[in-house]
Amino acid sequence: MKIAVDLHIHSALSPCADDDMTPNNIVNMAILKKLDAISVTDHNSCDNVEAIMKVAKSKLVVVPGMEVQTKEEVHLLCYFKDLDKLLDFGELIRSRLPNIANVPKVFGNQLIIDEKDRVLGQREQLLISSVDLSIEQVLEEVYKRQGALVPAHIDRPSFSIISQLGFIPESLRNGTVEISCRDNQYSDKFTEEKILHSSDAHHLGQILERESFLYVDKLSVSDIICTLGRRN
Ligand SMILES: [Zn+2]
Ligand SMILES: [Zn+2]
Repeated sequence: MKIAVDLHIHSALSPCADDDMTPNNIVNMAILKKLDAISVTDHNSCDNVEAIMKVAKSKLVVVPGMEVQTKEEVHLLCYFKDLDKLLDFGELIRSRLPNIANVPKVFGNQLIIDEKDRVLGQREQLLISSVDLSIEQVLEEVYKRQGALVPAHIDRPSFSIISQLGFIPESLRNGTVEISCRDNQYSDKFTEEKILHSSDAHHLGQILERESFLYVDKLSVSDIICTLGRRN
C-alpha cells in the first residue's frame, strides 16, 4: 500500500524549532494534513518522542526517530521499531554529546514537553553539536538495534553527507536517502523507491501535505523501517 509520510519533523526540543512544536500541535497538524505516519527527529535527542506517541495513539503512526550529527558534521536520520530501542540509542547519543551548555537566548529553547503539552523542563546540554561518533559507528549502533538509517538532506550545502564527504560511503550507497528539493541533481541518481522527501519542519506550517509516499505491505512502524532499510 501507498502511505503518506513526513519522517523528519523537529519538536520544541530542538533549539532551532519553534516553541509551539508541541506533541499535540504536531500530531494534530499531521492528522489535519491526512498523513499516515510521521517521525519526530530532534537533534541528538528523543525526549519528546514518548509524549508524541501517547498523543498519536492509534490515530497516527509515529516512527521513533532521531537526527544525529556525527563527528564529520553529517546529519543522519535514525529510525527504530520501538520506543525502547530509540531510548537506548538516545542514552548512547547523550553520553557522546560534548558537555556544552545551551544558551537559550542565543540558540533557542530545548523544551521537554509531556502529552498534555505541559513543559516539564529544558535539556541543558546544547543539542546542536556533533556527537563523538563517526558515520560508521552510528550506522553500527543503529543496525545493532535493528533500526534504519537515512542520510538527511543530501542535496543541502551543509551538514549533509555530500557537503561533508563529497561522496556517499559504500555502506550507505544502497539504502534510502533523504533529498530536500524535488528537482535537483540527485533525483536522477537514485530510483524513486530510494528517495525520501521530508519537510525537516521547524515550524508547524512546514509539515508536509500528502505529497511524500512510501510503499509498505501494511501501515506499521516495522514495515516502514523495513522499507527504509531495504538495501537493494
Ligand atoms: Zn539536518
Ligand atoms: Zn532536521
